[in-house]
Amino acid sequence: MTAPASHPVWCLPARCARLKVHVSPVLPVDAQHGEDDVIDVALVQEWRDDAHPQVSATVQAGTEVRQVLMSTGQAQVFIDQVGRLLELLGEVTS
Ligand SMILES: [Zn+2]
Repeated sequence: MTAPASHPVWCLPARCARLKVHVSPVLPVDAQHGEDDVIDVALVQEWRDDAHPQVSATVQAGTEVRQVLMSTGQAQVFIDQVGRLLELLGEVTS
């Protein structure tokens, strides 16, 4: 696979070259600094010209690792729905 001529502004070219996919910095989802399960999120995008950015959520539970890819639109709905659930708990103050 030929490396792309350019990268999205959010891409880390060194990781991109290694993984053969545009990839952003990986952001941890760790509210208590020591959750049992490790969750990270990142942007990814295949090198194809017609590819779109996706949100990757990777969950490591013990030795098992699962990755979920979603469109940016689906990720926005996910955020909104989680916000609605947290509002039900009274844990969202804004
Ligand atoms: Zn890239």
